Amino acid sequence: GLKKKEVHVLCLGLDNSGKTTIINKLKPSNAQTQDIVPTIGFICLSQCLICQAKADTETSGNITTNIKHRRLPILFFANKMDLRDAISSVKVSQLLSLENIKDKPWHICASDALKGEGLQEGVDWLQDQIQ
Ligand code: GDP
Repeated sequence: GLKKKEVHVLCLGLDNSGKTTIINKLKPSNAQTQDIVPTIGFICLSQCLICQAKADTETSGNITTNIKHRRLPILFFANKMDLRDAISSVKVSQLLSLENIKDKPWHICASDALKGEGLQEGVDWLQDQIQ
């Protein structure tokens, strides 16, 4: 039958870039919050399980080691694409020199987390990577 696989996803980004909004939109609709409050520490999202974790040194040490040594896929969201002066995801990837990432699979999606646009494309890609 179908097996569920638990995965850990680390969500990083500038303050105010939309991380909480993105994670909230990825939750089942009955679990979504209407009021997004700023996050202290970081949010840990795993398939079907979303928990808020404190950024203690042991956890962040483990994560850094994993990122260094494993071929972890990296998904970028070029969020707030609805803003009038937003630049394209292609331009964002050029500005961040993403083509220099050769040792990990990566993907960039333009998104509008308020409307939830572009998020599914990113999650589909991530799911393909972790099969
Ligand atoms: P975080 O600090 O990265 O967790 O950012 P938040 O999720 O708290 O979002 C910061 C602000 O940006 C909030 O007011 C959100 O409503 C807004 N925001 C998030 N995503 C988008 C988006 O795609 N477009 C627009 N226009 N605003 C967004």
